[in-house]
Amino acid sequence: MTDLRTPKKGRKEKSFYIKTFGCQMNYHDTERMSALMVEQGYTEARSAESADTVIFNTCSIRDKAHHKGVSGLGHFRRVKRENPKIKLGFAGCVAQHDGERVLKSFPFLNFVLGTDNIDVLPEILYRVDQGESPVMAVGFDPSQDYSIETKIIPGKKQAFVNIMKGCDNFCTYCIVPFTRGREKSRRVEEVVADVENLLKQGVNEVMLLGQNVNSYGKSLGGKKAGQTFARLLRELEAMADRLDADGITDPEGKKSKEGKGGKESKPKGLLRLRYTTSNPKDFDESMMEAHRDLRRLVPHLHLPVQSGSPDVLRKMKRYQPIQTYIEKVLRLRELVPGIAISSDMIVGFPTETEADFEMTMDLIEKIRFEGIYAYAYSERPGTKAVELGDTVPEETKKARLHMLQHRQGQIQAEDNCRYQGQVVEVLVEGNSKMDPNILSGRTPHWKIVNFSYGDSISEPNKMISEIAPVKITQTSAFALRGELIEGSK
Ligand code: SF4
Repeated sequence: MTDLRTPKKGRKEKSFYIKTFGCQMNYHDTERMSALMVEQGYTEARSAESADTVIFNTCSIRDKAHHKGVSGLGHFRRVKRENPKIKLGFAGCVAQHDGERVLKSFPFLNFVLGTDNIDVLPEILYRVDQGESPVMAVGFDPSQDYSIETKIIPGKKQAFVNIMKGCDNFCTYCIVPFTRGREKSRRVEEVVADVENLLKQGVNEVMLLGQNVNSYGKSLGGKKAGQTFARLLRELEAMADRLDADGITDPEGKKSKEGKGGKESKPKGLLRLRYTTSNPKDFDESMMEAHRDLRRLVPHLHLPVQSGSPDVLRKMKRYQPIQTYIEKVLRLRELVPGIAISSDMIVGFPTETEADFEMTMDLIEKIRFEGIYAYAYSERPGTKAVELGDTVPEETKKARLHMLQHRQGQIQAEDNCRYQGQVVEVLVEGNSKMDPNILSGRTPHWKIVNFSYGDSISEPNKMISEIAPVKITQTSAFALRGELIEGSK
C-alpha cells in the first residue's frame, strides 16, 4: 500500500492555499486539512494564484456564506484555463450537501470533499496526482465511533479540538444536521490524551469544538457511562495541573509541588480553555459548577438564545422557555460573578411580528450580553422552516437587524466603561489590523484589546501567544485600548 504520509525524497515541493468561509468549525477543518497537507510535503502559499492546489472550504449556514463560496469558484474558471495544472478542490458544508450539483456547474474541479471525509484528503490528493479526476468523497462515516487525533501546524500555540461532530437537534432554520450528520462524541479519555499531547507540544490555548457541546457524551451513554461535558472539563483541568506540577509544562512546577504553590500557583501550560457552542436547553448546573471551579476555563460563555419570543422559539424548535434561559444566566452570574455571556440572534424568522421582535429587544436589555452575532433570517433549502415561508419583508428584516445591533452596541459601550483604568491579562494574538505598531489580543472575557508597548520592547512578536498585563486607557463598544505595564516583559 502506498505510504501517503511520507513525502518522497526528490519530490518537487508543492504548495497549497485554502480559502475558508463560515464558522469556527470550518476554520478548524481548514487547520486539519493544512496539517495533513504539510505532512504530505506541501507548503502553504501566500495566495490562491501562486498555489499548486487550491481548496475552497465552504459554509452553508447562511445564504450569504453559501453564495460567497460557490461564486468564488467562478473566478477559478479562468485561472484553470490559464494554468490547467492547478488542482482545485471544493470542501465543507456546501460540498457535503450539494457537491454533485456544484460539480455539474464547475466540471473543472479536481475533487469534492465533504465534512466527514477530511482525513482521506491525502488519499484524494494522491489519486488526483495519478490522473483521476474528479474524485468525490461526500459520504457519511457509518461507524458509531468517532475517534481522531488533533492535527496542528508545528509551533502553533492555539489548538482547536473537535470533541464531537454532528447534531441531533434539527432546529428548523439550521442546515447543520444535514451537512454534518448525527451527533457523535469522542471518549473523554481520548480527548484528554489528545490535549495532553498538544500541551506537551507547547500549545497553551485550547478551544473545544462541537455543535452542541452541552450534550457531549450522549452517544457514548452520557451520565451513566461518565461521559459528560462537565466531567471532560474537570479531567482536562486535572491533567493540565498534573503536567504543571510534574514540571512538564511549568519548569517551576516541581519546586512548588514540594513547597507551597500547587493549586494556588498560576496555570502555566494550559493558560486558557474555551469551548463553543452551546444549546441552552442542555446547559445545566454541572456546567455552571465547572465554570465556578475550574481556573483554566475562561469566564466567557457563548449561549445562543436566537430570539426573545416564546412563539418564535417554538417555531424554531428551540425548546427552552425564555424564563428558564434568564434564570440560568442569573444563576451562572451568581456562581461566577462577572462572567461574560454572548449570544446569536436571528431577526425576521418566518411569522416574526413587531411584538415578537420587541421581546428580543427586551431580552437584550434584561441580559446585557457582552456581545451578540445577529443575522437576518435567510431560507436554507431542505430545512423545516422553509415550509413556513419567508414571510418577513427584507426591508423589515434589515430595519430590525439595524435596531438590534445599534442598541446592543450602546449596551456594550456602556458596559465596557467599567474596564477604564483596570489592568487586564491579554493573551497576545498578533499585530493590530488597524496599526502594525501595536499588538492585539483578548482578555479571558473575550474582549479585544489593542495595546502599545514602550521602546524597551525590541521584539514585540516574541510576546505573541504570551500573557501580557495591559492597563486600559480607552474603551468603546467593540474593543479596548491600553498600554503594556512597563517592566512586565
Ligand atoms: S443546536 Fe445548533 S447546530 Fe444543532 S440544529 Fe440547532 S442551531 Fe443547528
